[in-house]
Amino acid sequence: MEYQKPIPLKTEDNKHYWDMADQHELSLQKCNDCGHYAHPPGPSCVHCGGQNLSWEALGKDVRATIYSYVITYRPFLPGFQDDLPLIIAQAELEKVPEVKIMCNVIDCKADNVYIGMSVQMTWQDITEDRALPQWIPVVV
Ligand SMILES: [Zn+2]
Repeated sequence: MEYQKPIPLKTEDNKHYWDMADQHELSLQKCNDCGHYAHPPGPSCVHCGGQNLSWEALGKDVRATIYSYVITYRPFLPGFQDDLPLIIAQAELEKVPEVKIMCNVIDCKADNVYIGMSVQMTWQDITEDRALPQWIPVVV
């Protein structure tokens, strides 16, 4: 069945991020002037305004802890009705704690999510050439 949900558009600013996601890897934009990371990617650094940005590859083994979350019981966009309740979270990257990624936590019951929970990035192949980063609980 064809993928029903919105597919993130690639722009000049985020193309590398999504290209890497399609290959099941995380890449983060980093400012060469002040050293801060910029996520989501943009045309300039949100910390110093610098435009001297580069990309840092974080690979396929990406872990984080849940920094905050909400649980939604209503589909705000078409296609999400089968995913309810949906966990929408901010994941604080283990290797780069200054970066908190807005995300979905999947394969997790809404009752079981908590702040501080360990999660791991995974990728869902949604079309032939596109993949979406998602997060799943780390089983300990
Ligand atoms: Zn900067």
